[in-house]
Amino acid sequence: MFDSLIIGGGPAGLSACLNLQIRNKSFKFFSGTEKTTGLMKAPQIDNYLGLQGISGTELLNNFKKHVNEMGIEIFKDKVTNIIGMGGYFAVNSNNEFYEAKTIIIGTGHAKANYFLGEKEYLGKGVGYCATCDGPLYKNKPITIISENEEGEEESVFLSQICSEVYYIPLYNSEMKSNSKIKIIKDKPMEIVGDGDKVISLKLKNQEIKTEAVFIIRNVIPVSQLLEGIELEDGSIKVNRHMETSINGVFACGDCTGKPYQISKAVGEGSIAALSAVKFLDKSIKR
Ligand SMILES: Cc1cc2nc3c(=O)[nH]c(=O)nc-3n(C[C@H](O)[C@H](O)[C@H](O)COP(=O)(O)OP(=O)(O)OC[C@H]3O[C@@H](n4cnc5c(N)ncnc54)[C@H](O)[C@@H]3O)c2cc1C
Repeated sequence: MFDSLIIGGGPAGLSACLNLQIRNKSFKFFSGTEKTTGLMKAPQIDNYLGLQGISGTELLNNFKKHVNEMGIEIFKDKVTNIIGMGGYFAVNSNNEFYEAKTIIIGTGHAKANYFLGEKEYLGKGVGYCATCDGPLYKNKPITIISENEEGEEESVFLSQICSEVYYIPLYNSEMKSNSKIKIIKDKPMEIVGDGDKVISLKLKNQEIKTEAVFIIRNVIPVSQLLEGIELEDGSIKVNRHMETSINGVFACGDCTGKPYQISKAVGEGSIAALSAVKFLDKSIKR
C-alpha cells in the first residue's frame, strides 16, 4: 500500500509529488495526458515570479525536469475512479487497482456538462472506461463519445468484441469509418433508456440503437471520480490545509476553484502534500 496516490500532472500535482518525495513518502503519480493541462495552452506567462515571459510548455517542461531529477516516475495513466475503503483508498486506473492511505487530487478545472440521461443510466449502460466495461457488450452495438483521440484506440479494441461501434468524436478527428466502426459527426443530445438499461442515443440529426454509451472526457468531473466529495460552486471544497470533506483526501490547484493560476496551483500542491504527510505521521503514532 502506498502512502499516497497523486492524481493530475499539472503544476498542482507536480508540486504535491515533489514535496512528498522530499518528505520521503511512498506514492504513485498518475499525471493523465499533458495535452489537457491548462499550462500547455498558455502562450506567455507574465505572472509567475522569476520566470517572466516563459511559455506554458517551457514551464511545464521545467517542472517535469525537476521532478524527474528528483527520481519521481510519472505514469501518464488516467484514474477512472477512487473508492473509499474505510481507512484507506483504492484507485482504478486502466482496470488495475492501487491502494493508498491518502489521496491528492490535482485534476484541474472540470466543469461537468452531463448529457441528458447520463447520470440516470450510469452503470446501466453508461460508462467511462470502454476497455474496462466494453467486454460486457460482446456482439452488441455500443457507442463511444470522445473528447480526444483516446477514444479511437478504445473503439478499435471494442470493434473486435462488439457487433458495431458508433464513434462520436467531439474534436476534429481524421479517423475513417470501416465495416465495424461507424464515425458519426453529430451532437449527442440524450442517452435514452427503458428504465433499466440504455437502449439508444439521440443525436441532433438522428437516433442510434445502442446498448452502451462510453463517454471519454478530457477531464473526469470530480464528483464522478470520487463519490460523495463535497463541492462548492462546482469545485472541490477545501480548507486552508487543502483537506476535503473526506478524511485522508486532499485537493489542490484549479479543481479547488478560483483564481485559476499557476502560482496558486503550485502553492496548494505543496500544502496538500505537507498536510498528507502530517496525516500519515499522525496515523503512525495512533
Ligand atoms: C490559455 C491559458 C492561458 C493561461 N495563462 C496563464 C497565465 O498566464 N498565468 C497563470 O498563472 N495561469 C494561466 N493559466 C491557468 C493555468 O494554466 C492553470 O491555473 C494551471 O495549469 C492549473 O494547474 P492544475 O495543476 O490545477 O491543473 P491543470 O494544469 O489543468 O492540470 C490538471 C492535470 O490533471 C490531469 N488529470 C485530469 N483528470 C485526471 C485523471 N482522472 N487521472 C489522471 N490525471 C488526470 C490532466 O491530464 C492534467 O494533466 C492559463 C490557462 C489557459 C487555458
